Amino acid sequence: MHRIDGRTKTFGLIGNPVEHTLSPYIHNMLAKSMDINMVYTPFHVEHGRLNDAIKAIRGLGIKGFNITVPYKSDVMAYLDCIDDKAQIIGAVNTVHVINGQLIGYNTDADGLYISCKRKGMTFNNKTICILGAGGAAKAVAIMCAQHNVDKIIIVNRTVDKATNIKTKLDDLYTLETKAISYDKLNQIDHIDICFQTTPLGMYPKTDRTPIRDQDFFHKLEYAIDLIYNPSETRFLTMAKACGAISLNGLGMLYYQAVKAFEIWHNVKIPDHILEECLVNLNKMIYCK
Ligand code: NAP
Repeated sequence: MHRIDGRTKTFGLIGNPVEHTLSPYIHNMLAKSMDINMVYTPFHVEHGRLNDAIKAIRGLGIKGFNITVPYKSDVMAYLDCIDDKAQIIGAVNTVHVINGQLIGYNTDADGLYISCKRKGMTFNNKTICILGAGGAAKAVAIMCAQHNVDKIIIVNRTVDKATNIKTKLDDLYTLETKAISYDKLNQIDHIDICFQTTPLGMYPKTDRTPIRDQDFFHKLEYAIDLIYNPSETRFLTMAKACGAISLNGLGMLYYQAVKAFEIWHNVKIPDHILEECLVNLNKMIYCK
């Protein structure tokens, strides 16, 4: 990080909780590598205080901020402009403040796409399965639809929520969609890419997984878990044991931050810096 001085620009993250976030590490590391005089800090916003937080951001001249759970949808009401992708997903994770105007973006979908591409995945004509139907699942579904997949199956405990995503996809894109509960999983023959978007398996309850039936995992080519702690969830371990290629959520987290950084600072981060910072992040979180 630069030494903080009179020219240091402030960026941050608002959410609740924010105590375990890796975003300050990522943004301050990128700033150092790119020689940008800024500081990025988390802001714990109490429930019911989002309005005050946004007023403070405007008043203090903060140049940009990320938004995490539970404010990604609520923040949209406070923004002056929202880009198309964020509007479709229905969630904003990045805001850029330009001349007092708050402009909202969603970089989660792009972050996940870059992470998947780096793993060699392609989406054209593929069959996708999404486990879970919350905010992250919606970003995953829109990302897949925008990259020309053939079919998206959304599996969720509460089928109505899966149906809501299906309806949105049907309204906007031409592709086959299905919304089912976990007990209908045996209806599926083959899945090219399966995204695990529930919190099941996250540290410390690492024994949990939305699916325990080993037969399911034989159907997968790629298994992606949005969780990055632990580095290999039970879901990924089971998928790997059946021959699937696995990917955790650290790449998604990293590249959504990279995209936000590039929006705020109007820069393109060179590949060698991206690689170097990702290696550092892996070392910091997994000690490897
Ligand atoms: P969310 O909106 O709360 O949605 C959670 C989903 O998980 C819901 O569909 C919920 O089902 C399902 N679920 C929760 N507990 C379950 C259980 N016991 N059995 C079956 N299903 C269950 O959360 P989100 O914002 O989508 O985030 C989901 C996960 O993605 C979190 O682990 C988060 O950390 C991760 N994430 C990672 C990144 C990244 O950058 N790597 C970015 C965003 C999110 P119901 O609808 O039935 O309640």
